Amino acid sequence: MSIKNNLEYIEKLKGEAAIRSGRKPEDVLLCAVTKTHGVDEINEAIDCGVTDIGENKVQEIMDKYEFVKPVKWHLIGHLQTNKVKYIIDKVDMIHSVDSLHLAKEIDKRAKAKDLTMKILVQVNSAMEESKFGVTVEETKQLIMDILEQCPNIKICGMMCIAPFEEDVDDARPFFAEVKKLYDEYSKISHPMLDFKYLSMGMSNDFEVAIEEGSNLVRVGTAIFGARDYSL
Ligand SMILES: *Cc1c(COP(=O)(O)O)cnc(C)c1O
Repeated sequence: MSIKNNLEYIEKLKGEAAIRSGRKPEDVLLCAVTKTHGVDEINEAIDCGVTDIGENKVQEIMDKYEFVKPVKWHLIGHLQTNKVKYIIDKVDMIHSVDSLHLAKEIDKRAKAKDLTMKILVQVNSAMEESKFGVTVEETKQLIMDILEQCPNIKICGMMCIAPFEEDVDDARPFFAEVKKLYDEYSKISHPMLDFKYLSMGMSNDFEVAIEEGSNLVRVGTAIFGARDYSL
């Protein structure tokens, strides 16, 4: 299957899932995850209409940035504080903010470049072994701390990675829990809080995630095929 065919198929499934959850296909944004893939493949996807791409490593963004056609870049993976400076004026949004320490560095670098960085707060759950993401209990405090201490950050929503389940339906309670928090915190009234994105769902679970309320899916393998990390 070609990238073009894969994208058409994903768009179809994404649109159908959006309609099943009472929304329009265009209400759910597709972020094509391009990690490990070369610039030719990425540019091919952009030619097919992809507007947003996601990378999880700062180094990969830097290596590819100047060769990729105009597109919105999303940093979706764990971000080390000492690398924020390299991507602050390249990415449109950082999905993976999970500490005040990291937020403060993003704020400092954004201020130095006279820009406002859009971020999502990455939420983890008790079920998930990954060491990244704040717990459900810590989420509100982190949001309030960022609003108070990081004037060059705009909080645009939340992101999560569901625990891997043999049966994707088993991820539903997790997605639903994050959606509930998202709805609750979207009511916080502050000029630098503008909840627009609930980033959840990947190749294996994006339809379920959309049905549970996601409006931004991060899909890699289903578009570009399996990743080869040995390259
Ligand atoms: C790699 C990655 C994805 C995409 O995963 P696929 O299974 O290839 O669709 C989504 N989100 C994050 C944070 C990732 O690192």
